[in-house]
Amino acid sequence: MEQFDVMIIGAGAAGLTAGIYSSRSKLSTVILNQGAIGGQMTLTNEVANYPGVPTTTGYALATTMKSQAKSFGCKIKSNVKIADYQLTGTDKVVTLDDGRVFSAKTVILAPGGRPRSLNLPGEDQFRGKGISFCATCDGEFFTDKELIVVGGGNSALEEAVELTKHASKVTIVHQLDHFQAFEHAIQEAEKNPKIDFIMESALRSFEGKEKLEKVSVEHIPSGKVSEKNIDGIFTFIGYMPSTEPFDGLIKLNERKEIIVDPDMRTNIPGVFAAGDSIVKKYRQVSTAVADGTIAALSAADYLNGRN
Ligand SMILES: Cc1cc2nc3c(=O)[nH]c(=O)nc-3n(C[C@H](O)[C@H](O)[C@H](O)COP(=O)(O)OP(=O)(O)OC[C@H]3O[C@@H](n4cnc5c(N)ncnc54)[C@H](O)[C@@H]3O)c2cc1C
Repeated sequence: MEQFDVMIIGAGAAGLTAGIYSSRSKLSTVILNQGAIGGQMTLTNEVANYPGVPTTTGYALATTMKSQAKSFGCKIKSNVKIADYQLTGTDKVVTLDDGRVFSAKTVILAPGGRPRSLNLPGEDQFRGKGISFCATCDGEFFTDKELIVVGGGNSALEEAVELTKHASKVTIVHQLDHFQAFEHAIQEAEKNPKIDFIMESALRSFEGKEKLEKVSVEHIPSGKVSEKNIDGIFTFIGYMPSTEPFDGLIKLNERKEIIVDPDMRTNIPGVFAAGDSIVKKYRQVSTAVADGTIAALSAADYLNGRN
């Protein structure tokens, strides 16, 4: 069994920040991460709003955070799958599916979230064969092709603009008659000659043989359904917290977000949470970083008997 002062679950912006703060305070720290280090940052082509860093890629920002954490002695284990959590005792213990066991006096949960899917017929069949959630990862596969972007928030508009670097045309399909995005993101999309808009409309099904070829789109007010030939779909319709493993272990709200107090304490002593998986309104790299900072400082206080 490997023992630590602080064990962090998840290596996105929140988890890596908690790792930087904890290991810099000379607390022995391990981050256990399932999936790509950097989490959702690696799905983002351009991060232009992280203070102090001129426009960068999400991947570059994640790589810098990871190096910073490691430089202070933080251990990072990637591509792990946690099979069991024991969070209630004085020593918190997690067991991986390969039998490795990690124990720590405090745990910071930072599992973040993942893009929400549309839950439509054909979606599973065409995921990776025309349906994608990541412009950075898959945009180039659609060079000179026609795409649909689903969504009306900042991510949808910004990623649609990004996709016009590859695609010949991008149509944004949004269910409302207005966007829920920052004004500058709306203006960038509206002035892009390669972008069209289909408002008050929603996708209803996907069709194709080996890969996606066609979608049906419903105009919501009239109920009229039309078909559209398309090479690819990118969906940016919000997120789901990745808290399934913690349901029943710690207190979650009705949206399955982790309930924390302002010091990022959960209902279990010694267990803290940070980032997109907690109850909050604004999900950004900067807010995840702030949560990770608070969680690490609170964990240090807990270890020093100060809370
Ligand atoms: C397309 C897109 C564009 C965006 N653009 C911007 C932007 O321009 N600016 C901005 O500020 N924000 C942007 N965001 C939001 C921002 O990326 C997130 O708010 C932030 O990165 C969340 O960080 P996090 O650490 O809370 O979670 P995540 O990034 O989700 O990281 C969580 C990590 O934990 C891992 N994990 C999950 N469950 C477990 C488990 N059980 N065990 C171990 N590991 C686990 C995951 O694999 C992941 O690596 C964007 C998001 C998306 C999807």
